[in-house]
Amino acid sequence: MSAMVDIKSVHKSFGSVEVLRGIDLEVRAGEVTVVLGPSGSGKSTLLRTINHLEKVDSGWISVDGQLVGYRRSGDKLYELREREILKQRTHIGFVFQNFHLFPHLTVLENIVEAPLSALKRPRAEVVDSARKLLDRVGLADKADAYPRQLSGGQQQRVAIARALALEPKLLLFDEPTSALDPELVGEVLDVIRDLAHQGTTMIVVTHEIGFAREVADTVVFMDEGRIVERGAPGDVLDAPREDRTRAFLSKVL
Ligand code: ADP
Ligand code: MG
Repeated sequence: MSAMVDIKSVHKSFGSVEVLRGIDLEVRAGEVTVVLGPSGSGKSTLLRTINHLEKVDSGWISVDGQLVGYRRSGDKLYELREREILKQRTHIGFVFQNFHLFPHLTVLENIVEAPLSALKRPRAEVVDSARKLLDRVGLADKADAYPRQLSGGQQQRVAIARALALEPKLLLFDEPTSALDPELVGEVLDVIRDLAHQGTTMIVVTHEIGFAREVADTVVFMDEGRIVERGAPGDVLDAPREDRTRAFLSKVL
């Protein structure tokens, strides 16, 4: 299968701190990659570069064959204009740790906002798709509620429905359950698991090892801005080759 995401030699610094130190990663269409690693290892920054929330200093990233933020012409890379970047971003869904819902909009309005403004599709059609998405995440009865009236698990399921509303080619999850009370983690992981079974291509940063073992095609372990180890979940999680992976797993398992 073709690579949906192709990351080559990506470097990124904030001031004098090099946060990504040469990342190479390929995610094939329909596959789930789980990224593990200690706090500060660069996991969020990596996801953010894929979604144009951060620009890389060197190296390049492509999603579905399109260079992220750049156009190639011969040997040169040209930066895309803001409008082209916004268009690329509509193909990539991002789910944050803290949901990031619009507090002043209802659940339904949160979901229809992007497709109405970015895709300019007719309102009735967009509302109809949004209701179907809410049904899919088990929240059909919450369309008119406001985020503050929902539990964290429900808010995160709305955030997932909102990410799906643009029919993305790729979904990125940045610790989607770490802000949740333990009893609410399962309902969110269930939704992500369903998406995986339907062949959604995704990269999931999470410390939920059981979920990684069950759902991931590939597990990647990051430390200090590098990918230290990668492989099938059974290999990386149960028989890690690297000391750093072993040390990390002994803390989270
Ligand atoms: P992780 O998600 O693995 O915890 P991050 O990618 O959030 O790691 O952060 C990696 C390092 O980059 C950390 O040291 C963090 O403080 C730093 N960092 C992240 N974003 C910024 C930023 N916008 N400005 C300065 N430093 C940052
Ligand atoms: Mg992070």
